[in-house]
Amino acid sequence: MPTTSGSVTVSAPGKINVCFLVGPLLPSGYHRVASVYQAVSLLEHVTATATDEPGIGLTVEFTPGSVLAVQARRQLDSGVDLLAAIPRDATNLAARAAALVLAASDWDGGVRLHLSKAVPVAGGMGGGSADAAAALVACDALLGTALGTRALARLGEQLGADVPFALLGGVAVGLGTGTELTSALAPVPFHWVLLTAGFGISTPRTYAALDEHRQAVAGGPGPEHIPVPAPPAEVLHALRAGDPHRLAAVLRNDLQEPALTLAPRLRPVLAEGLAAGALAGIVSGSGPTLALLCADEDDADAVATSLGHRGLDAVPVTGPVAGAQILSRAGT
Ligand code: ATP
Repeated sequence: MPTTSGSVTVSAPGKINVCFLVGPLLPSGYHRVASVYQAVSLLEHVTATATDEPGIGLTVEFTPGSVLAVQARRQLDSGVDLLAAIPRDATNLAARAAALVLAASDWDGGVRLHLSKAVPVAGGMGGGSADAAAALVACDALLGTALGTRALARLGEQLGADVPFALLGGVAVGLGTGTELTSALAPVPFHWVLLTAGFGISTPRTYAALDEHRQAVAGGPGPEHIPVPAPPAEVLHALRAGDPHRLAAVLRNDLQEPALTLAPRLRPVLAEGLAAGALAGIVSGSGPTLALLCADEDDADAVATSLGHRGLDAVPVTGPVAGAQILSRAGT
């Protein structure tokens, strides 16, 4: 039964693609990919509250104490409002997620969402997708729709390629456009340092830069004719073995060069990360967040501290972590 009161709070993780291979451009405008996702301990929180008023209301904050909040405050001092980049209307991925669950429910009131964000905005870590995943789970619990994991994942697919993974969490191979997921074993945590950029890169622009580059390569196939990729076995072996040295040797992201071309100032930052003692570094998804893989927790702390002293926004995280999780319910 839907309820006219109460609220549900859900967390959902940001992700790193430890391997991201981009295949052919599809007529839909999406690409076929082979992605190995890892959910990391940088979490979004969404609280959904039932309202008697129909419709969806939405408020957003940067999680107090998060690097995102620190960056936002710094940028506000120089006249840039990072929070303003997040849509508050029906186009917000969390609002779209809530609308899908509302439509499946028999509740004739509305839902108010509060987003507390810690994942960089337009940072290549799927923050909006995590918000959507958290909103799906929160609204499903709030409105008593009991849609179940598969149905929620199908709704998630309609919202974005990374939403099903934010629901699932852990480590998974994503095929198709990234939504056909198979969980993979990674029993031992990996330690990363994230370098967050304080600016965003548009994901479509990064893909377009890759397609243009592929088109421009003399004799190279057009973007429609790139072979369908498969995840390299060695990536999965390294994850299963819990061996950061093996994983460091096989990190790969086809969007890395286009992202570095669009934001050349990231190149020296990546080099700095490696010089500080990381085993390897990679652009996360379409960037600009950089993910530095470290040998263990102590190394990650040391690398983050050293980079912090050099004025970079460095956050140690671990992965894999769980997907969207209900944290609390009040009055439901
Ligand atoms: P992608 O999943 O496309 O790679 P990303 O992880 O790089 O994206 P997001 O933070 O998810 O980046 O946001 C990308 C864009 O989506 C933003 O610039 C914003 O305009 C829009 N957007 C919609 N909903 C949200 C949301 N809940 N949080 C952040 N951005 C959102």
